[in-house]
Amino acid sequence: MAIQVGGHVSSSGGIFTAIDRALAIEAEACQIFVSAPQTWRPTKHTDAAIAQFKARRAESGLGQVWIHNIYLANLASEDSLMIEKSVASVVNAMTVGAAIGAEGIVLHTGSHKGLGLAAVLDRVVDSLQRILDAAPAGPLLALETMAGQGGTIGTKFSDLGTLLRTVNSPRLATCLDTCHSFAAGYDIRTKDGLKAALAEYDGEIGLDRLAVVHANDSKTPLGGFRDRHENIGDGFLGIEAFELLMGHPAFEGKAFLLEVPGLATEKSPKGDGPDLENVRRLKAIRDGVPVPR
Ligand SMILES: [Zn+2]
Ligand SMILES: [Zn+2]
Repeated sequence: MAIQVGGHVSSSGGIFTAIDRALAIEAEACQIFVSAPQTWRPTKHTDAAIAQFKARRAESGLGQVWIHNIYLANLASEDSLMIEKSVASVVNAMTVGAAIGAEGIVLHTGSHKGLGLAAVLDRVVDSLQRILDAAPAGPLLALETMAGQGGTIGTKFSDLGTLLRTVNSPRLATCLDTCHSFAAGYDIRTKDGLKAALAEYDGEIGLDRLAVVHANDSKTPLGGFRDRHENIGDGFLGIEAFELLMGHPAFEGKAFLLEVPGLATEKSPKGDGPDLENVRRLKAIRDGVPVPR
């Protein structure tokens, strides 16, 4: 199965509007927020809006649909109210995800604030179990690999492996973010580096639990532990890294979802990404043709 090249698109103005935004940048898959990422209050989606999403998706032929959870959630918080709100936010995303037929929800698990996963493991495992108990079946819950900024869980693949083994649910999976994991110290720019990183992923998590990829170049060098995305080919990862990744059998059939700033234009000097240019770059890399620059 071929890799699907997609990107994060806005769904403002109704969840169904995301489909046409994805098509406008020639995306074959998409990721959306179903709630404003910096607020706790869940967005209300009417039955009509959900039906319209499903109908438009079906007629468009768009591939995988992923939901990114809101950024405020932290399943490792020592504040019980914060935990309640975080759990509810993921349950909400999974409920909407089940309604629209999404493949899954991508989650930044939270932060141990430098104490290490072991210090917060019970709390995170309990939160994940509560989410899976309360959420309808259907979508996967994919824990994302992280860059390490602020003691994020998922900086080491072993963090996610420990969580998946402890919770032990087939509904839990992982999202590999190329920018984050490179910033966290995994040198995926070379054949040997990628081989070593994937061997560690396989040993700690299992490559069969890799569900989706966030395809981002990095403004931060290897081991910079900072989460700063760059357009494909313009960062420290470069075109070759994506050639290696997209040519590797571990990524067959996965959605590569862009979360990049986009190229500067007269209208948007800071970019309006993910944009058509980045989608075209990633498709060219996948298809083995010269990358448009
Ligand atoms: Zn990401
Ligand atoms: Zn990021």
